[in-house]
Amino acid sequence: MIGVSTTGARGFGISPVNGKRRVPLPAASAIAFIVGLPSFVLVPFGPLLEGALKVHAHQALLQPAGPCSIFTPVHDGTLHRLFPSAKFDEPLKRYTAWKIGGPADALLEPKSADEVVAAVNAARENDVPVTVLGGGTNVLVRDGGIRGLTIRLAKSLTNVEADGTSVIADAGVLYPVLANTTAAKGLAGLEFATGIPGTVGGAVFMNAGAYGSETTEVLDWADVFEADAGEVVRMKNEDLRLSYRRSILHEHPDWLVLRAGYTLRPGDAESLKARIKEFRAQRMNGSPNRPSCGSTFKRPPGDFPGRVIEAAGLKGTRVGNLEVSPVHANYLVNLGGGTAEDALKLIELVRNTVREKLGVELESEVRVIGEP
Ligand SMILES: Cc1cc2nc3c(=O)[nH]c(=O)nc-3n(C[C@H](O)[C@H](O)[C@H](O)COP(=O)(O)OP(=O)(O)OC[C@H]3O[C@@H](n4cnc5c(N)ncnc54)[C@H](O)[C@@H]3O)c2cc1C
Repeated sequence: MIGVSTTGARGFGISPVNGKRRVPLPAASAIAFIVGLPSFVLVPFGPLLEGALKVHAHQALLQPAGPCSIFTPVHDGTLHRLFPSAKFDEPLKRYTAWKIGGPADALLEPKSADEVVAAVNAARENDVPVTVLGGGTNVLVRDGGIRGLTIRLAKSLTNVEADGTSVIADAGVLYPVLANTTAAKGLAGLEFATGIPGTVGGAVFMNAGAYGSETTEVLDWADVFEADAGEVVRMKNEDLRLSYRRSILHEHPDWLVLRAGYTLRPGDAESLKARIKEFRAQRMNGSPNRPSCGSTFKRPPGDFPGRVIEAAGLKGTRVGNLEVSPVHANYLVNLGGGTAEDALKLIELVRNTVREKLGVELESEVRVIGEP
């Protein structure tokens, strides 16, 4: 049922299986976490969010992010018993770049990869749906919040190790921090990450990129907890199927990135730091200084979303407290107290207007999670 190993809580044994490097779970801590809990039948994961939720037709081109299992009501007592260190009924707008989002039933910030694995396993065994948040910089959490367990990795899994030109970063490391850390060590390749406020896990999930570079260019592998299989698998770059703001993880809502390995190039620390400073200055000049999720829409073929939205006359358009930024039209900014409902309506208004006026189809980059 769960791929446990008794080789100890620390250190991952690695053995190649089916072309992938299989890593048995750090089982001792997982078992310790679960010991004392009543035994429950393992409930298989249900359909993805797209199926489990009634996704409204007008949101069809948004990118719903999947929780790890089906939405079923979970008794508060169950969550308190399973995840005593979680925060309960916690407003997620505190954790999203957009400053939007209803409450999480339970919000857990695990201190280690072992704790993540143990929490997900405990949730699965008790039919508690699981949703993963990195930095919350590319999600729209709906106003009804998130049922079950929300695991937030930003700022909790934060270790970075470098050995020669190889760098291993935990899933919760912020990309700008990784850019600075690697540049300071004279390692080139991740300077672009300075403009991306999310985490390593979110960057793998999204194949995040900026200034003409993308994560896939420097990423070697990611350790992915495939919760459905109960295994941590070291997936190579090519197996992650990274493409424009996409990865294989979009098709596997029950997979979770725990850490990632990068291969960088030797460089001069001072020039790398100067490059990062230059990127930052560019960003400061061209971006609105309001809560947003960065670029809302992906690039349409041969064009830029900001250009077409501006050409459709939408700069400054508002729905409630959400506005198409007058500074950069691909940023939909929260003027204060904006709701997910406002954001979804504005996204739809932009898409419809751009389609009607210019015949261009815009696809949202943002992941929509939670309940209306
Ligand atoms: C001001 C601003 C500027 C931005 N500029 C850029 C830019 O230049 N380029 C760019 O690419 N993006 C940009 N973004 C968007 C965002 O920062 C990236 O998409 C980032 O990679 C998201 O990471 P995150 O940790 O915040 O993920 P989240 O927003 O927390 O999550 C995004 C998705 O990834 C999943 N996820 C997160 N962590 C994990 C994990 N460990 N395992 C499995 N799934 C996970 C979540 O479930 C969710 O579906 C910008 C955002 C803002 C607010």
